[in-house]
Amino acid sequence: MSIANVEIMSGVEQAAALIRAGKLVAFPTETVYGLGANALNTEAVSLIFEAKNRPRTSPLIVHVGSIQMACELASEWPAAAAALARRYWPGPLTLVVPKRPEIPDIVTAGLDTVGLRIPAHPLALALIRAAGVPIAAPSANRFTELSPTSAAHVAGSLADFVLDGGPSEVGIESTVLSLAGPPTLLRPGIIPLTEIEALIGPVATVEAAPTSAHPAPGMHPRHYRPKTPLYLLRDGDPVPEGRGAWLRRGKEMPANPREYATLLYESLHRLDSESWDWIAVEPPPETAEWAGVLDRLQKAAMPRL
Ligand code: AMP
Ligand code: MG
Repeated sequence: MSIANVEIMSGVEQAAALIRAGKLVAFPTETVYGLGANALNTEAVSLIFEAKNRPRTSPLIVHVGSIQMACELASEWPAAAAALARRYWPGPLTLVVPKRPEIPDIVTAGLDTVGLRIPAHPLALALIRAAGVPIAAPSANRFTELSPTSAAHVAGSLADFVLDGGPSEVGIESTVLSLAGPPTLLRPGIIPLTEIEALIGPVATVEAAPTSAHPAPGMHPRHYRPKTPLYLLRDGDPVPEGRGAWLRRGKEMPANPREYATLLYESLHRLDSESWDWIAVEPPPETAEWAGVLDRLQKAAMPRL
């Protein structure tokens, strides 16, 4: 093992010890950085809500290290969950399934379901395995602010420890799919819905879902917001007063949806630090491939000018 590897592993051991001790650890995943606590410890999980100033009505995703660990937390594991986990885990897909009573209510905002995923980042997996417990984690930012996609984006005061695993490859939060009842998309992500439907059949979207009563965090209308006002604008549209920065596909940003997602929050964090009066983002196409990016931009954007 090289010296760098030894240092990384000692970071994981230290982080795992803190998780076991009921503390908060910010850790890298392939989507965004998470603010993690032992999902089986009510006190520890309550610290997440306090640190983020997150309403307790917003359920947390529970990160697991194996499909077996997921099944141990679920009271039902539908055939669609098995098929999707086999195809996409580890990866940016959260499956909402009926929960076992061992998961404290605080994790699921009192719902009888739990959102589970195996993150595709070696340090996240090493952390879960070393801690030996499932890790509840929302993004490591204050409520409604931009999600972090690097250790440098994580506000120091949020966590007891920040594990640095480099930039997040996916760059936007996971796709959230409920399988507690008819399959329903709760939050789009980088995996196109058309691909999921090819595997498990038709999926409802949340507007059409009969049980859309639970406000889920990613569905809060003001979310993922930079400090600088962001507008969805096309070239030639009237612009706000002052100095602005543009993010256009194929110009300042990649033309490909996956590459665009990887850089989205990174670009917004950078522009936020550059004191622009406004940020104009060219709206992406309304296709399955762009749905995750479009959702985040719509929630980040100010109303039309
Ligand atoms: P965040 O951790 O802020 O990125 O968001 C967590 C996402 O997980 C939300 O968008 C919710 O849709 C979803 N989620 C987690 N647990 C549940 C659950 N039990 N029921 C419904 N949605 C959930
Ligand atoms: Mg978040």
